[in-house]
Amino acid sequence: MKEVRVRFAPSPTGFLHVGGARTALFNWLFARHNGGSFIIRIEDTDEQRSSPEYEESLLEDLRWLGLDWDEGPVTGGDHGPYRQTERVAIYKEYAGELVKRGAAFPCFCTDEELEIKRESMRAEGKPPQYDGTCRSLGEDAIRKKREDGIPESIRFEVERGIDRKIDDIARGDVSFPAGMVGDFVILRSNGLPTYNFAAAIDDALMKITHVIRGAEHLSNTLRQVMIYEALDLPSPRFAHIPLILGSDRTKLSKRHGAPNIRDYREKGYPAEALVNYLAFLGWATKGEKEILSVGELVEEFQLDRVSDSPSIFDEAKLNWVSAQHIRAGGSGMYFKDAKVFFPGDFRERYSEEELEKIFEISSENLSSFDRLPVEAASFKPGKIVYDDEAAAVLGGTKELIAGFKNRFELAEKWDTDHIRGIIKDTGKALGIKGKGLYMPLRAAVTGLSHGPDLVMIILIRGREDIVDLLSGALEAAG
Ligand code: GLU
Repeated sequence: MKEVRVRFAPSPTGFLHVGGARTALFNWLFARHNGGSFIIRIEDTDEQRSSPEYEESLLEDLRWLGLDWDEGPVTGGDHGPYRQTERVAIYKEYAGELVKRGAAFPCFCTDEELEIKRESMRAEGKPPQYDGTCRSLGEDAIRKKREDGIPESIRFEVERGIDRKIDDIARGDVSFPAGMVGDFVILRSNGLPTYNFAAAIDDALMKITHVIRGAEHLSNTLRQVMIYEALDLPSPRFAHIPLILGSDRTKLSKRHGAPNIRDYREKGYPAEALVNYLAFLGWATKGEKEILSVGELVEEFQLDRVSDSPSIFDEAKLNWVSAQHIRAGGSGMYFKDAKVFFPGDFRERYSEEELEKIFEISSENLSSFDRLPVEAASFKPGKIVYDDEAAAVLGGTKELIAGFKNRFELAEKWDTDHIRGIIKDTGKALGIKGKGLYMPLRAAVTGLSHGPDLVMIILIRGREDIVDLLSGALEAAG
């Protein structure tokens, strides 16, 4: 196989969303698996909606996900420029070539005229396609229209009556009956290319070998293949990856609360967890394993395992995948990223080492770092607020709490063995065991009825804090 060259071609009209990131990831995995090149091309020909800020944010999110590229804007490369607005002269040249070959024609129909015609076709129950008005204008008619200053676009002339087929790597042969698309604009009257034209030309000139993109682009692929044929350019191979649906089985969108990659990053999901989850949206490994490192994904990724049915975006599953990564990576891997998610009072109250221990203890089931304040609630500094259950547990335990307080005050040493010893001794002295012993103590020092290992909480909170909390609880235990 010749060197694999794939691309991700975002339009800088918004933040990188789940669908775009999945497309970028599949391309990146394919390139890295095959030792090929991953290219970024910015499709910014929609002047109104594109912005440099969005471009920067897309690149930043790709970097954060770890999807590095070999050629692209800023990075450069041998097939640039990599921003479509910087390639306008190239599109003009190829549009001219198509006109010369008789495969495209100047079109002077105005938007209003086209809309009226489309309306009447719809009314007759026909698909609203270009009716061919400017297909065979003679030279004189064209000159006259130009003299009259009528805006001119270039339209591709679709050969009529030909059924077509695309050999798709992911879904096999895809057939298109003749008449599915009418003559389409390739160069607008403002001189800018349409998406289909620019993408086709760029993929050819950038020597893209495989175009991997969402199934919603299938009918665009049909148009792009026609352009290659008309220009005698080699066509890349295509792999259309399944749509991503929300839980209600409609195309995933903002309505589903489908966040941008940036939102997940801000919530503190590890990038490799997101990458792991996104890889399984429309693709599967040979084995059963669901938690894979990026290296393992690269090793395993092949297009023949791309599914052809839509996949459902399931945030609960993402949370599960993420929690597995966080647990496996532990504080060694994640504390550095996680610590900023501790509320300010935690960061003031605890040392770096203590925070790291709190992170370790609280990350058993942590799916994103923004949940740390909840998972680490047992360590909350300052005055304790007892939840209802904790308040109920404390009722009538004054003697026990006083016993704990006195013994902790006099503890010889503050380590797990001594803390355990004190709890046991207090219980023995009062003839209390098990839950009756631990639950009031937990309620007293955390205000909660559930939480991580109590001995560790007491150890990290320290003697002073524990004695204070027990004094405070004496009142509540009354
Ligand atoms: N700019 C297009 C998009 O964002 C690219 C589609 C393609 O990959 O060709 O949908």
